[in-house]
Amino acid sequence: MRKVFVIAVVTLIGITTGVRAQFGAPDVDARISKLIASISESRMEQRLRTLVGFGTRNTLSDTASEARGVGAARQWILDEMKRSSPTLQVSFDTHQIAKGAYQRMTRDVELRNIVAVLPGRSPRRIYVSGHYDTINLGALGQAGLNAGGALNIAENADAPGADDDGSGTVLVMELARAFAESGIDFDATLVFTAVAGEEYGLIGAREEARAAKAAKVPVQAIFNNDIVGGSTGGDGIVDGATIRLYSEGPEDSPSRSLAIFTQRVAARYVPSHRIRLMALRDRFNRGGDHTAWNLEGFPAVGFRESRENYSKQHNANDTIEGVSFAYLGQNARVNAAAMAVLALAPPPPAVTTDRGAPRLDRRASGYDAHLQWTASAGAAGYRIFWREAWAPDWQHEMFVGNVTEYTLPHMNIDDWVFGVAAVDSDGHESTVSAYVAAPANY
Ligand SMILES: [Zn+2]
Repeated sequence: MRKVFVIAVVTLIGITTGVRAQFGAPDVDARISKLIASISESRMEQRLRTLVGFGTRNTLSDTASEARGVGAARQWILDEMKRSSPTLQVSFDTHQIAKGAYQRMTRDVELRNIVAVLPGRSPRRIYVSGHYDTINLGALGQAGLNAGGALNIAENADAPGADDDGSGTVLVMELARAFAESGIDFDATLVFTAVAGEEYGLIGAREEARAAKAAKVPVQAIFNNDIVGGSTGGDGIVDGATIRLYSEGPEDSPSRSLAIFTQRVAARYVPSHRIRLMALRDRFNRGGDHTAWNLEGFPAVGFRESRENYSKQHNANDTIEGVSFAYLGQNARVNAAAMAVLALAPPPPAVTTDRGAPRLDRRASGYDAHLQWTASAGAAGYRIFWREAWAPDWQHEMFVGNVTEYTLPHMNIDDWVFGVAAVDSDGHESTVSAYVAAPANY
């Protein structure tokens, strides 16, 4: 009885003061959980059936037919995204690609990405992407390339691309619908993009990223999904409970920080699914569209299924039978969790001076760690993180309240790495800004 009374009073104080973070805001936002729960595996399956029905979506395939080829496919994706929610601003992002502009491009082509924008309160943008184009490299497909075979593209041969990357495409389409229909008023502007030309050298993504850089678009994050629907490897090993997430280094780079954030958030909202972080740009000698964004200086990460089947990639065998929609659903959910929290959280704190020097010092003692940062708009408090200098991930964390500096006594800054994240009054937490020493200069 007494306990109930105390809880009631504490709750009341929390509500009346509006400073819930002080009392510990919940780690999970019920609105985000609801959004995640609305993700439909059956809708992704229906859409993937339509997508593979276009026979091939090769970037150089037929654009006149309404039934087969890249032209029919891109028009259907555009129309379907428009139909899925009136709040999405859906359009083609068209680029004229000249023969030879990219190594594999053997003739002039008009390439079209599909872009669906869900406007937020601020211009900062968070992207989720998949590529809708496909390729047929002959009967052996990717397994042939892995064995050292030459690249031979059959432009009009069947290339159903159910997993590569129909899976990423329908994931993007479903997230567009779920976010647009969630009714949540996001701070960030969310962009759902299905791109072409990936198989010819990341062309659609490279054009999109270059244009964003030229226009100084404040892109905060790109979540790329490419081959995310298969849970059975070519070696027969089944793993539907994990997914790999690739990010370029070095440690504490913006992309690596985004990857760590994604794993942390996903573990809260989708604890049944585990993200395996890979401290690699991508798989060995293979590429994906997140790298196109990295090349222009944007933080971007790439999701890849845990167990690939190379004999079912880049040939006519990449059929819908190779896709597990239960698995694809889980992968969509972890994307949604990370995107939603990032879109609601304050921007990460700035931890450097205007001239780029880290605001980390030893205090007068010489042996304390003194962290300083710039307040983030919308933050109700900050959480600091630290780890031993050999560790890849944060080992310790502490909520320190609404302050912009903190001292950890007897913590030698030569031995530890430190970071700080901004948290709003509902518990939405930003990515961690790490204190990185200036490059060696002798
Ligand atoms: Zn792919």
